[in-house]
This record gives sequence, structure tokens and C-alpha cells, in this order.
Amino acid sequence: MTTARIGFDLKPSAQPLPDAEREAILANPGFGRHFTDHMVTIKWSEGKGWHDAQLEPYAPLRMDPANMTLHYGQSIFEGLKAYRQTDGSVALFRPDANAQRFQRSARRLAMPELPVEAFIEACELLVRQDRSWVPGVGEESLYLRPFMFASEVGLGVKPANEYLFMVIASPAGAYFPGGIKPVSVWLSEEYTRAAPGGTGEAKCAGNYAASLVAQAEAAQQGCDQVVWLDAVEHRYVEEMGGMNLYFVQGSGADARIVTPRLTGTLLPGITRHSLLTIAEDLGYATGEVQLSTEDWQRGNADGSISEVFACGTAAVITPVGTVKSARAQWTVGDGEPGELTRKLRETLLALQSGSIEDRHGWLHRV
Ligand code: PMP
Repeated sequence: MTTARIGFDLKPSAQPLPDAEREAILANPGFGRHFTDHMVTIKWSEGKGWHDAQLEPYAPLRMDPANMTLHYGQSIFEGLKAYRQTDGSVALFRPDANAQRFQRSARRLAMPELPVEAFIEACELLVRQDRSWVPGVGEESLYLRPFMFASEVGLGVKPANEYLFMVIASPAGAYFPGGIKPVSVWLSEEYTRAAPGGTGEAKCAGNYAASLVAQAEAAQQGCDQVVWLDAVEHRYVEEMGGMNLYFVQGSGADARIVTPRLTGTLLPGITRHSLLTIAEDLGYATGEVQLSTEDWQRGNADGSISEVFACGTAAVITPVGTVKSARAQWTVGDGEPGELTRKLRETLLALQSGSIEDRHGWLHRV
């Protein structure tokens, strides 16, 4: 891994979106529907390494039909957010953690590793340039999507000799504008997301392509989200759609907050990691566990599991209200967002917007 800084060539757009149009988008941004005025690109080629780093106007790419990614899926990505701070400044949340996960994903897909410093600088440059796209304080944010794909042309199956790294940005509205609402989940016993030795802990495009049919099955069952189980016994809970899961055992001051341990087949979420730390800071016991669907059902029936929630960058914390599988259906607690779920959600949001002390140095001012 090299730590050299990459020099960026800055080419700001001559025609950014007019203020009134941007303001209209920011009034109702949704998620991933609108993109800011600029993007970052960095090329990698064999022999030359990382080069031609640019901040340039957002624009479509031209692509050869034999681009390897279109055929063999060498594509990885990240998701992180820039938050407006209570003092008006803008900060990224733990971009170093995303940069490191991006390197691990690259290793798994035999792609070159972008230095952590270059990843962070690319995100910073884009946010600085498109700062007016960062929404105001609240649950809104600017979502950054760094990604990398093979750009070599050819049909041989092999690691490519050329890749393109990019960052684009999209304003994101509050996930629950009308107040937090618990989701219903479908336990997927037929489809699995990731097998031991596979790509489950990498953030690669193919994992998401393979998940869509199970998500469609969940919807057919009347559920909002799919919950993935382990690929060997189809028993142990791994994660939910694009979020990690947490279980609250017991309640009140004695509650223990646990999450499935990282087995190599689930994504090591940055929100998951942050919450383990935040829960400990708040004085709760935490744990990384192996939990079966029977443990979950029994725990909800006898009250030993009082709350269940999912967490991730996009939706922060989402309570789980009801659970359904081919054989059973049950409700978590009284089906409403639990007290600890709310407390952890509020604490994380307060931390991300700079309204409580950043004890762990997670905010990266831009
Ligand atoms: N699991 C999966 C499969 C995901 O796609 C995501 C979103 N990146 C997560 C969990 C949550 O990760 P993070 O907290 O880093 O957003």
C-alpha cells in the first residue's frame, strides 16, 4: 500500500445547476435520484498505478461494449454521508473506515487498492466543491457513492489491467419523514446471500444483484425486507437487506445489546461497529453472538429479546416490528419502536450532526 498523495486536477463545472433548481431538489431529495454538479475520477493501469485524478463536471461515461465489468462484474462500492453540523460546517462520518473497507473489497475481487488518503481526499474535494448540496441540519445528508470497476476492454476472464475509481454524490432526505416506522421482515430460507469463502464481507455489486430475487420474495410475502440466514444450515441470522441487525436482550439498565458476529459472510457495517461503541459509552453490555431463528422466536415469545433493529448508513436505525418465515410469524415486543432503539438512534444522529461530543474522533470536517 502506498501512502503518496495523488495530485487532483480541478475542473469545476462552468454550468452548475441554478440555485433555485437545486433548492427545489433539496426540498424533497428522496434517495439516489438526483446528483450534484461534480464527480471525481481516478484511473489505475498496470505499470502506471493511480493517475489522472480529476474533479470534473458530473457527466455520463462512454463505455465499450466489451468493457469487462459488464460481463464479469468487477465492481465494488462504498456508501458514506456528509452531514451539516449544528455550527453550519460539514463533516464526513468515519471516511477512514469506508476507505479501509473499500481496500478489503478490492483485495477480495483482485482489484488494486486505492490508498486511504486518496479515497478520503476524493470525498473531501467533492463535498467541498458541491457543499451547497449538503442539506440542512436534521436527518438529511449528502450521500457519497465511491465506486470502482474494471475499465479494460476484452472478454478474457482475469484481473483487469485498467480500473476507474469514481465518487458521485446525491442528496438524501430523512428516511422516516413521518416518524420512525418498524419494518416487517421475511426470513429467507431458500435463497442465501453469501457462502463461506464467498464475497459476503465485500461490498461488491454482484452481492446486490443476487439479493433482488429474495427481496422480491419478501415483498410477495407482504414483508418490507429480507433477512439473510447462513448458507450452511439456513438457521443463523446474518443481516437484513442492506443493513446489519441488532437484538436487545433484557431491558432497562440491564439490557444487553447484541449483533451477529462477523463470520465472513456478512458485511462489516460501519454503523454496526459505531453502535457497539456507542452502546458501551452509554453503559450497556454488548456482544457479538450466533443467534438462530429459533432463538429469535423463543426470545420474543418469552420476552428475553425486547427489541430488534437494523442499522446502516442509509436509514441509520430501523426498528423491526414483525417477523415471518415459511413456518412461523411473530411480533417483536409490542411491534412498536423500542426505547433503546430510539435512544441509540437519537445518540447516533446527534453525534453525526455534531450536537454531542465526538469522543472517538469520528467526524472528519471538510
Ligand atoms: N449490510 C449490507 C449488505 C449493506 O449493503 C450495508 C450498507 N453498506 C450494511 C450492512 C450496513 O453498512 P454500513 O453501516 O457501513 O452502511
